[in-house]
Amino acid sequence: MNVKSWLSAGLIAGACCALAWLERRRPLRHQMAEPKLKREVRNLSVAAIGAGALMLLERPAILPLAQLVETHNWGVLRQLRLPRWLEVALAVVLLDYTLYVWHYLTHRMPLLWRFHVAHHVDLDLDTSTALRFHFGELAVSVPWRVGQVIIIGVSPTSYLIWQTLVFPSILFHHSNVELPIRIERWLNRFIVTPRMHGIHHSIIEEETNSNWSSGLTVWDCLHGTLKLNVPQDQITIGVPAYRDPEEVGLTEVLALPFRQQRPSWTFPDDGKPVRDSSNVPEHRLLP
Ligand SMILES: [Zn+2]
Repeated sequence: MNVKSWLSAGLIAGACCALAWLERRRPLRHQMAEPKLKREVRNLSVAAIGAGALMLLERPAILPLAQLVETHNWGVLRQLRLPRWLEVALAVVLLDYTLYVWHYLTHRMPLLWRFHVAHHVDLDLDTSTALRFHFGELAVSVPWRVGQVIIIGVSPTSYLIWQTLVFPSILFHHSNVELPIRIERWLNRFIVTPRMHGIHHSIIEEETNSNWSSGLTVWDCLHGTLKLNVPQDQITIGVPAYRDPEEVGLTEVLALPFRQQRPSWTFPDDGKPVRDSSNVPEHRLLP
């Protein structure tokens, strides 16, 4: 590993430790469906298998590809011959936008949702959920990443900077950390925050189908998919079809994409969770 990789790994490990500490000191959601340690062990196990898939599939493909992009000036940004700083900044922004599109597709395409649902069936939401992506989802994201790098024209430096920014951002917005509401409202104008992403993990279909951004909030604003007006203490985390902790253990989560899929947005005994949000202020992040 070179200096840049060590710095990036150090930043990610530091963010993980700081958020885990803050979650214990200032939790945002207090009611937990499962013991924290049990979930953390499960989520880290899913994460370790996912990391293996990335080491096998993404690592050997993406950085050498980005090197080719730089050498041969492939992709839109390399063709524009922009100043170096502008090219890197635009590449990071466009990678963030195309991650929004990918996240949208993982919810809207049944084949991708099979894998992404493994992330959403977590009955609680914290930093460990940020690491819990099914190895199948990570594997099928590699061709998307190849497309991002080639079409945008992403150099190795741009890619490493984006990775170093997006990973702590994903850890942060999944975390169960209570920020002072005024600070979070200000931050949320620019980046995805824990309360905003908490709404995306709600068991209510309409709420999950919002807040698809992973870095900058602007993509949800532009697409009209931003939803902020849900009080955190009224959110139940998860997917209605899988409410029993026995059904979301490690082996069940790993097998989930390969099983017959239940209708995600109804409870097993029928019925859909709904919320009356007629008298809450629109467009305002609530405590
Ligand atoms: Zn999602």
